[in-house]
Amino acid sequence: MRVPYSYLQRQFSEINGYIDDIRALVRSGDFTLGTAVTQFEERFAQLCELPYAVGVGSGTDALILSLKALGIGHGDEVITTSNTFIATVGAIAMTGARPVFVDNNDEYTIDVQKIETAITPNTKAIVPVHLTGNPADMSTIMEIAQKHNLVVVEDAAQAILAAIDGRHVGSWGETACFSLHPLKNLNIWGDGGVIVTRSEDLYKRLRLIRNHGLSTRDEVVMFGHNSRLDTLQALVANRLIGEVNLITNTRIGNARKFDESFADLSEYIVLPPRKPNVKQVYHTYVIRSIYRDGLMKYLIDNGIRAKIHYPIPVHLQKAAAYLGYKLGDFPVCEQHCNEVITLPVHQHLSSDEIDYIVDCVHAYFRS
Ligand SMILES: *Cc1c(COP(=O)(O)O)cnc(C)c1O
Repeated sequence: MRVPYSYLQRQFSEINGYIDDIRALVRSGDFTLGTAVTQFEERFAQLCELPYAVGVGSGTDALILSLKALGIGHGDEVITTSNTFIATVGAIAMTGARPVFVDNNDEYTIDVQKIETAITPNTKAIVPVHLTGNPADMSTIMEIAQKHNLVVVEDAAQAILAAIDGRHVGSWGETACFSLHPLKNLNIWGDGGVIVTRSEDLYKRLRLIRNHGLSTRDEVVMFGHNSRLDTLQALVANRLIGEVNLITNTRIGNARKFDESFADLSEYIVLPPRKPNVKQVYHTYVIRSIYRDGLMKYLIDNGIRAKIHYPIPVHLQKAAAYLGYKLGDFPVCEQHCNEVITLPVHQHLSSDEIDYIVDCVHAYFRS
């Protein structure tokens, strides 16, 4: 059996509805910040139970524009984790600010015990990442931020609908940033992102920054980016946004099946964290094992497209050399990079495929 990591062919096997929408869009010529974008923004804000959402060009741009709208740039330091997709760190660097890393905990999010020692007089912001769809400890992060007068931008690219005590991610920070990349839980046919915020002032500034700073057709109040969510992509998003709860619940159900089926392997693998007050949305189902490389090869050889998120920590990437970090600086993160493996958990897995993954993992450790 072959179990693909990408579910796009299955998800978009029937596209007539989408094509009808696109045909109507082409006839209307409403390509730039069209009505579908506004509709999507309203529905996305509603989904997150927040007042404002702004559609932008990508999840990476959502981070860059948020930080810039908050006045962050050259001379500033921004705290985040090294155990993340490079875009989190790249976005900080692209504002001109300096990324400062803090190690992560065993739940793949920032270790809040270690944040305060990383704060200097230049620190302006914290960017916690809800990696794998598991929310960072937001109440502690917000306490630290308030105490030191820092702003918080949540990287929620992997965490749409994740929540702590029933409160959605995105409702703690000044803004939260989501990605609509084809392999994110709410996906489109290319790049797109969305920023949510509670602040009307930030909302207005973000709408300017994504569109050249234009307040009217001919007047510019600040210099900005060209980073608008495409109307065509908003059409795709509008068709899928109604399915996000189902998508999320299916992933959560698949993850639970894995948890139960792997319970007898606790001497070999560490399962994802499960906390009763946390809704973790399983953008990825990540387990850890000191036998990772052997397991990975066995799964790939048996047709299961497992992945590693991420094999090289950002602080050891060539791009980060100028920051001066070295091997050993973030031991938890470095250990995870050697031990993590991501199993397919997407909403289009069949129960036969889930059983096959379970059987293969057992077969590897039993052999
Ligand atoms: C996907 C992702 C991003 C970037 O999103 P894009 O839409 O691909 O630009 C940022 N941070 C994290 C944690 C991500 O997973």
